[in-house]
Amino acid sequence: MDRAAELLHSVFGFPAFRPGQAEIVRSVLQGRNTLAIMPTGGGKSLCFQLPALCREGVTVVISPLIALMRDQVRALRAAGVEAGALTSGNTGEETEEVFQAIDKGRLKLLYMAPERLASGGALALLRRAKCSLIAVDEAHCVSQWGHDFRPDYLRIGELRRALRVPLAAFTATADEETRAEIVTRLFDGEAPVTFLRGFDRPNIHLAFAVKDKPREQILRFAGARRGQSGIVYCATRAKTETLAQALREARHEAVAYHGGMEAEERRQVETRFQREDGLIVVATIAFGMGIDKPDIRWVAHADLPKSIEAYYQEIGRAGRDGSPAETMTLYGPDDIRLRRSQIDEGAAPPDRKAADHARLNALLGLAEALGCRRQVLLGYFGEAAEPCGNCDLCDRPAQLFDATEAVRKALSAILRTGEWFGAGHLIDILTGTATPKVREKGHDRLPTFAVGRDLSKPAWGAVFRQMMGRDLVRPDADRHGALRMTEAARPVLRGEVSVTLRRDTVVAAGEREPVIR
Ligand code: ADP
Ligand code: ZN
Repeated sequence: MDRAAELLHSVFGFPAFRPGQAEIVRSVLQGRNTLAIMPTGGGKSLCFQLPALCREGVTVVISPLIALMRDQVRALRAAGVEAGALTSGNTGEETEEVFQAIDKGRLKLLYMAPERLASGGALALLRRAKCSLIAVDEAHCVSQWGHDFRPDYLRIGELRRALRVPLAAFTATADEETRAEIVTRLFDGEAPVTFLRGFDRPNIHLAFAVKDKPREQILRFAGARRGQSGIVYCATRAKTETLAQALREARHEAVAYHGGMEAEERRQVETRFQREDGLIVVATIAFGMGIDKPDIRWVAHADLPKSIEAYYQEIGRAGRDGSPAETMTLYGPDDIRLRRSQIDEGAAPPDRKAADHARLNALLGLAEALGCRRQVLLGYFGEAAEPCGNCDLCDRPAQLFDATEAVRKALSAILRTGEWFGAGHLIDILTGTATPKVREKGHDRLPTFAVGRDLSKPAWGAVFRQMMGRDLVRPDADRHGALRMTEAARPVLRGEVSVTLRRDTVVAAGEREPVIR
């Protein structure tokens, strides 16, 4: 499993598993017959690609979608994985290349169209390829009663039996009859390990809050939950120490935990947390992998997590017993700046950086959500949902306003100052605050000077933060974090699209009473 986690990162460039993936990967890695039902877009392919890389021999992937197979093969090859496809779309040359790779024993993944199975040589081919695992995508195609029935899928069961290899079947279709048919036809009626779990954890209350006075926010949140076991996640080791100290001074049982501590010391914290009630562990993301405590009542993030996947995984440690659990995630412009610069300054190739920025955008979209957070969260994983009634925005709907004018004023201030300044200075210009810096630069003579007096400074702060969250502007690390306009902002500037933003409400964490500024 360690190797799988490493490849997840090094080959696929993902920081964490998505919900459900780790369990499925483990089962397939162990060579167990596995049936996984996941929503479309949930990340099924990884669940056979990753085990394929870890196992001996070739994983044969059967999928009815030729275009999709070719895409996957292309993406795998780009990531340095030996993969090939045998489909009717192949040129003779491509097919020859696949056979050569098979005979040289280099291939890890062999994608096959179902019609290949019907031809007589299928079994011999799979033997020749040293097939050690069969993965079946869109496994519901084996169902004779479904819309997507593919008669060739009926051959898969025979092949599995003849080869005596494990089979992993994937589908997004969850109804019971289809499932039963898959079990009958692909697994000869012998129940495989089955994963059918929506991603929702309805007992976990979701909430985000803008960082105001983070230490006080965390103290208040923990204070309202005195005596309950909880985890506070921080971005840095140093912060775990200072926050744990602050919590102890407020008479909580609290300890720090991070990768820089001795293994023995870490083990002690883990054991204490497992056994005691009401201990707070203030930790970096190093904490949690092995934690299996059912009654963690709350999880707070003192800093914005790395991705939605990481967020989901970390809050998911709360409330495993099914009883109500609370979460709170703090975030602010500094988090956005930090995460952007971590991506920009990393060593990844440009397209992976772009993907990382897009993933960060998705997380910021959750932080700045206009409606039910659970809908946004589950939507990201491909699952549709109704407003949940158990998140901060269901408790208290956000106050929205048409911010098109405000955003255009802000963009104009950015452009007129050459994209060389941060939000603080830009807000001074917009609100007509003639600070020495504003005067020195002559920015009090700009046409944008004082055009934004209708909004308070905190309100402008919220506008700028949300603009960053929507990726309309990005801090540029090469310019000390100065805000620069992105392509996404052009249509707004041209007046082609409007922008709806939230009025900021600052909720005293741990209470639910809003203060509107
Ligand atoms: P499906 O379940 O529909 O086959 P895919 O396997 O195509 O879904 O995955 C959907 C998207 O999710 C892809 O863009 C993939 O790159 C992305 N994805 C899969 N696993 C992860 C992960 N662990 N972290 C981030 N993104 C992921
Ligand atoms: Zn909700």
